[in-house]
Amino acid sequence: MVYVRLFSLALFAVALGVAAAGIGSFRLSGEYWKYFGIYLLFSILYNHLRFISKKGKTEIEYGINYGLSLGLYAGPTGLFLFELAYRFANVLYRKLDRTADPEEWSDFFYNVGSFVIQNTVAFFLFSWLAHGAGDVHGSLYWIAIAAAALLTGFLSDTLIVVSFVLEREIRTWNEALELYKTRTPMAIAQTALTNGLLFYFIAADEWPMLVGLFLLNYLASYSMLFKAQSIQARVERDNFEKMAYTDHLTGVHNRTYMEKVIQSMEGGNEPIGIVVTDIDRFKCINDTYNHSVGDRVIRHFADTMKASCAENDIVIRTGGEEFTLLLRGRSYDDCLDFCERLRRVVEESVVEAEFGGARVDIRYTASFGIYFRTAGSVTPLASGYVHADNLLLQSKQQGRNRIAGAREAIA
Ligand code: GH3
Ligand code: MG
Ligand code: MG
Repeated sequence: MVYVRLFSLALFAVALGVAAAGIGSFRLSGEYWKYFGIYLLFSILYNHLRFISKKGKTEIEYGINYGLSLGLYAGPTGLFLFELAYRFANVLYRKLDRTADPEEWSDFFYNVGSFVIQNTVAFFLFSWLAHGAGDVHGSLYWIAIAAAALLTGFLSDTLIVVSFVLEREIRTWNEALELYKTRTPMAIAQTALTNGLLFYFIAADEWPMLVGLFLLNYLASYSMLFKAQSIQARVERDNFEKMAYTDHLTGVHNRTYMEKVIQSMEGGNEPIGIVVTDIDRFKCINDTYNHSVGDRVIRHFADTMKASCAENDIVIRTGGEEFTLLLRGRSYDDCLDFCERLRRVVEESVVEAEFGGARVDIRYTASFGIYFRTAGSVTPLASGYVHADNLLLQSKQQGRNRIAGAREAIA
């Protein structure tokens, strides 16, 4: 940490030196303060749109570097004054907002130093390429701006790499290369285009256009961030809803979902086979082995049903080892066939489980009750469920591992 702080202070000292050296050619005019004010206002406004990525203890800030165009206009000294004010406003804001961290001042010195140095180097490159920063005509202008944007990006990444190396967050060349790669050609083009236009408007003293461009950029970034956040919120809501309707042991639906689905299917015109099924003498499995072996059997039963059901059938865990199936788009006979097949698959399966350090093979059976509700029926689904449950009881009483079914009388 000490090295990073020293590095930040060194960058700040270099920036201060650069600003002092350029003081001869700098004039504190009313025009300077006008642009200083506009840049400061929008930079602060942009603050909550910043995309910050955390790498270890250090935050990297991605965003357009607007300081490039101000630097081209005001030179190193004007830029230094601006960075000083802007970064100080940042620290103040974070202190008031209580989001400041202990490295706040180190970050302050780093940011002022880093931005003044990279934009000053860009200023000299641009002046050299464009034969004086005032020349804003011709294609050479855009080539010079693009070169300046590329250079600031490269310098910014290099300074970040150095501080990460000092913090031991980057240890290999490959890790450093990965960081350089995060700066995409699109991002460089965006920086070049924005700063090229901003500087063009300053040079022509078209400050209302400059404000318009800042606003446009703000609105575009804001709506993008807003969209990204609302997509994320929807995904989270969907996940939450899914969790609320899912049984954690088996991954099938739970009782809460059953209440919802019964409500939504009520009054529908489709035939529904309501099946209530329950593992036979399940207590024995729990007692012979243990609860976790019991759970393993419950999961096996659920998986078997999921595998047998069609896409739009609904599997619900309505009790410990009791499940309800809503079979759709089948006739009564199809429902009986379906349950008979399921009954046989269960009867023939062997569940492998761990018990007392050894592997045990467990066999089990299940009983079924089916109540078939015809299309256009007026019987509430909830009563259909009670019928099916009574039919299950009948199967149990008749000796288990069997099916009892009934269909709604057609009026
Ligand atoms: P029957 O053939 O009449 O259905 O007999 P049964 O033993 O299966 O029925 P009973 O309802 O008496 O026993 C069910 C047992 O299931 C009682 C309860 O301790 C156990 N149980 C309930 N939920 C769970 C669970 O999530 N995991 C496990 N392992 N056992 C459970
Ligand atoms: Mg049971
Ligand atoms: Mg039971």
